[in-house]
Amino acid sequence: MRVHKIAAIPADGIGTEVIAAGLEVLAALAAQDGGFRFDVENFPWSSDYYLKHGYYIPEGGLEKLKTFDAIFFGAVGSQHVPDHVSLWGLRLPIAQGFDQYANVRPARVLPGVKSPLTDGQDIDWVIVRENSEGEYSGNGGRVHRGLPTEVGTETVIFTRVGVERIHRFAFELARSRPARHLTLVTKSNAQRFGMVLWDEIFAEVAVDYPDVKTDRELVDAVTTRMVLKPKSLDVLVATNLHADILSDLAAALSGSLGIGPTANLNPERKFPSMFEPIHGSAFDITGKGIANPIATFWTAAMMLEHLGEAKAARQLMKVIEAVTAAKIHTPDLGGTATTADVTRAVCETIRMDQAASV
Ligand code: ATP
Repeated sequence: MRVHKIAAIPADGIGTEVIAAGLEVLAALAAQDGGFRFDVENFPWSSDYYLKHGYYIPEGGLEKLKTFDAIFFGAVGSQHVPDHVSLWGLRLPIAQGFDQYANVRPARVLPGVKSPLTDGQDIDWVIVRENSEGEYSGNGGRVHRGLPTEVGTETVIFTRVGVERIHRFAFELARSRPARHLTLVTKSNAQRFGMVLWDEIFAEVAVDYPDVKTDRELVDAVTTRMVLKPKSLDVLVATNLHADILSDLAAALSGSLGIGPTANLNPERKFPSMFEPIHGSAFDITGKGIANPIATFWTAAMMLEHLGEAKAARQLMKVIEAVTAAKIHTPDLGGTATTADVTRAVCETIRMDQAASV
């Protein structure tokens, strides 16, 4: 029996609701497969925990997390803690501390889901986001606080090592897909140092991947291409900030923010990787039981894949698609189903799969 040690960090808002649903689905899959099981430990780190203790991650917390095979993360963000405090208190120390430099964000219109685009069915993208440096390096400062001369700086850091490894990762991923097409997204007309470094290293790495078709797009132009010519894109590689924005657009074009999954990967597997839905804590719907759990289920499928359970990952994606096709949709997709309804439908379909295969 293969045992996968999972650290669950539901954290804030609908994060607690969707991670609970995700764990139910993972348990149903493990019960059905019989070849593996999960050893799950729940971590209470959240904004409420921060308000009580003064920190999100207690002393030794990262050391403890390091012993897990994967981290299943909900969302962080609270109306009672400034966003930059919560993000830098919980999610970024894990992503940066564990060198999860490759953030992978697939976007696709699932069966039964309506895209706001007329040719939305053409969306089948993977956005590769550099996740360890760039605009979110945390390098900057504030001086002369409160004075008319106050200054705030936010210094963007691009390193050759950081840029080369994300390009290589993106080329490998593009090579594994049927279209074998990689689009480089930068802003190297206006930003002539770091972004030009991105362009140059991309061209250097491309020499090793003659079988991958490439093109280049400025970040502003690529937003229009995503909307107007969705079929012309396959894999996109972009900086931390640019890809953060593009992947929210990609999720919305795929039908809802409640669908998009993410993997924060440490490809060398020196540290555990972290899997989370791309959406945030969504205060407006927290506690109503209507959060769409599909992003988290898709995220769980990515986690299974990473853990070497490819068969279970494929089965989960098939089940998710059967449930979206059956129009068991939460309100964000125009339906009336609750989080529990969608979760039940997914778990029941998994069990029916088992009954069918006996
Ligand atoms: P963050 O700053 O953490 O990204 P945010 O509050 O800016 O968070 P989200 O919480 O990601 O943004 O979501 C914006 C809106 O999208 C929510 O207020 C909610 O209405 C909707 N939404 C997001 N995720 C879901 C979901 N899983 N199910 C249903 N609606 C969702």
